[in-house]
Amino acid sequence: MTTGILADDFGCFYGKKLKYFARGVFSGHDPTAHGEVSERMDAGWIGISAVRRALAWTGDLIVPPVCIACREALSAHHALCADCWRDVSFIRSPLCDRMGIPLPFDTGVTTVSAAALAEPPDYDRARAAAHFAGTARRMVHGLKYSDRQEVRVLLGTWLQTAGHDLLGDTHLIIPVPMSRRRLFWRTFNQAAILAHEIGRRTGLPVSVSTLRRRRATRPQVGLTRAQRRDNMEGAFAIAKRKRVRIEGQNILLIDDVITTGATVNACARALKRAGAHRVDVLAVAMVAGEVPLTP
Ligand SMILES: [Zn+2]
Repeated sequence: MTTGILADDFGCFYGKKLKYFARGVFSGHDPTAHGEVSERMDAGWIGISAVRRALAWTGDLIVPPVCIACREALSAHHALCADCWRDVSFIRSPLCDRMGIPLPFDTGVTTVSAAALAEPPDYDRARAAAHFAGTARRMVHGLKYSDRQEVRVLLGTWLQTAGHDLLGDTHLIIPVPMSRRRLFWRTFNQAAILAHEIGRRTGLPVSVSTLRRRRATRPQVGLTRAQRRDNMEGAFAIAKRKRVRIEGQNILLIDDVITTGATVNACARALKRAGAHRVDVLAVAMVAGEVPLTP
């Protein structure tokens, strides 16, 4: 997009905003309510609505909306441009009920993949919104390494959709913790940001202090399953005074991306040893291909 087109688009956009705002404030009419406003309209409603619109309009002037992945100019906040949407590879049904990885065809019943049967994970069910590639990868990296917290709202929508089945059974949301050293340098835990977003949307409680990371671990990629398990052994622990909070409870672990699954497996083991009834996992993205149903 050239600068000239950008300027024209913004001019047009803010012109519409101004007209919209003026109609709302001075006529008391809300053009978005599709003719049903008059019955609900009272002085308080008009006042709150007008203030809300004024704040949104002022906010757009200060921080114009852009695509949260590539920063192309858009007409709304917390959104992706058409090109970036096309570059998202969502993980869709049919899925392995345990690992959440895509299956080649729908059997019509709840199905577990050969991979999950051969090496059952320590968690009960995992779900991820998208494959870890393209726009999803850029957004996860933006949140993780560049503190791009504006992706939180859209990723929250993706998580809520992908985790629909899990959220109904959840008692407590827990993010995958970061080591204190890494947290010191990064200053935030992206999994905790996502966990709080899901908690805000669902009303479910979130605990960031129940599960602790006792030590940093080396990267899992390239290790065998046994090596990954050794690498993660003892890496997570439950705070003693928090044990009572998870005993008999269904826990939903939140992470940004599931790569080998070793980290969330280790978290699930620690939580179950401490008495959790179920541990499900919900992530923005997953490294997963389509897998066969039989070994
Ligand atoms: Zn874009």
